Amino acid sequence: MSRVLIIGAGGVGTVTAFKCAEVKAVFSDIMLASRTKSKCDRIAADVAAKYPDRTKIQTAQVDADNVSELVELIRSFQPKVLINVALPYQDLNIMDACLETGVHYVDTANYEPRDVAKFEYKWQWAYQDKFKEAGLMALLGCGFDPGQTQIYTAHAAKHHFDEIHYLDIVDCNGGDHGKAFATNFNPEINIREITAKGKYWEEGAWHEIDAMSIHQPITYHNIGERESYLLYHEELESLVKNFPTIKRARFWMTFGQEYLTHLRVMENIGITGIKPVKFKGVDIVPLEFLKEILPAPESLGENYVGETSIGCYMKGIKDGKERTCFVWNNCEHQKAYADTLSQGVSYTTGVPAMLGTKLMMTGEWMKPGVYNVEEMNPDPFMAQVGGYGLPWNEIIDIDVPFVDY
Ligand code: NDP
Repeated sequence: MSRVLIIGAGGVGTVTAFKCAEVKAVFSDIMLASRTKSKCDRIAADVAAKYPDRTKIQTAQVDADNVSELVELIRSFQPKVLINVALPYQDLNIMDACLETGVHYVDTANYEPRDVAKFEYKWQWAYQDKFKEAGLMALLGCGFDPGQTQIYTAHAAKHHFDEIHYLDIVDCNGGDHGKAFATNFNPEINIREITAKGKYWEEGAWHEIDAMSIHQPITYHNIGERESYLLYHEELESLVKNFPTIKRARFWMTFGQEYLTHLRVMENIGITGIKPVKFKGVDIVPLEFLKEILPAPESLGENYVGETSIGCYMKGIKDGKERTCFVWNNCEHQKAYADTLSQGVSYTTGVPAMLGTKLMMTGEWMKPGVYNVEEMNPDPFMAQVGGYGLPWNEIIDIDVPFVDY
């Protein structure tokens, strides 16, 4: 029986709260805390109304930019583990608060400084010795991508390959939320990610490209062909470190023309900028203002139709022979909504966050130090994740949708 503190009451926080409450035998006491307490209260009430038999959720207000506030909250609730589903800016503060109070840590996105749109694991990996010495564990990036995509890679490395040489992670949201423009997770973080330069790993080095400059059609299960754009995504950094046989690793994501046109206009007029500008005597960050007027990710669920399809294509060697493999999940937005009143992108993040935390609490994934999810045994995760709503599929010796394999 474990007490869990969830920080962040947005789209992912909603799903994480619903799913932790489902696993009553492990998560006996749950607190959801965020900057805006009324959002936590609404989620707690929604869980209690929809599932009266699940663990009841307590709520609190906290500013996760403030370590001493976090420490005070943690000391008063005394959780065994903290799940950080606020924003990447808060990762280091929350890790510091966990160290100060002796609490295990989980997140779904790596640290990003507010003033530079750049994500790298070096800041969080630097906590390795501190967590080890404290006998605490930090599990980094346990959402879908990062998260489940690395567990798929670890599963294939363990069961299907002697060496993986090529890895392509493909991410398609084939859903329609009916809005002219909205992002499926925090708009600020999402827009920073996709307007940054693209990057991929090949032959021992990173290769940088202009944003969205490499793209190709890829056919997604149950969705069809979609134009897919090469982006940099954080899990590539840990995957090429933890699987050094990988010669090339890339990440592809689909975008519709309508989305790209909106994005281009917003970039051209400067509203995606992250440098403060003076407005009526006050400094405002254009992207932070844009986030305020775009639909919140947690508001998209009710009318969302269609599905997401995310997976890993791999090529390598098994018993001296070449082999290819594809492992993937499709998630229907409407099924996600029926389970957790949330859309599929929040769902595919919150379910792995809960399950990774559960495996730490049951001891299967518990070891002191700072780890990315592919460093854990993939078997218990792969065995259970379907039961929590994200079943996976795999095909060996598939035709890969890339000409350069
Ligand atoms: P939202 O914007 O919907 O939610 C973020 C929540 O964090 C909000 O409730 C917000 O509060 C709260 N918050 C922000 N700053 C603070 C603070 N200083 N103190 C306390 N609470 C704060 O984002 P999402 O739920 O879509 O995303 C959450 C996280 O999940 C992000 O880090 C995102 O990058 C990550 N993610 C990971 C994915 C994966 O597959 N690995 C996929 C999707 C998301 P308020 O309500 O007051 O604004």
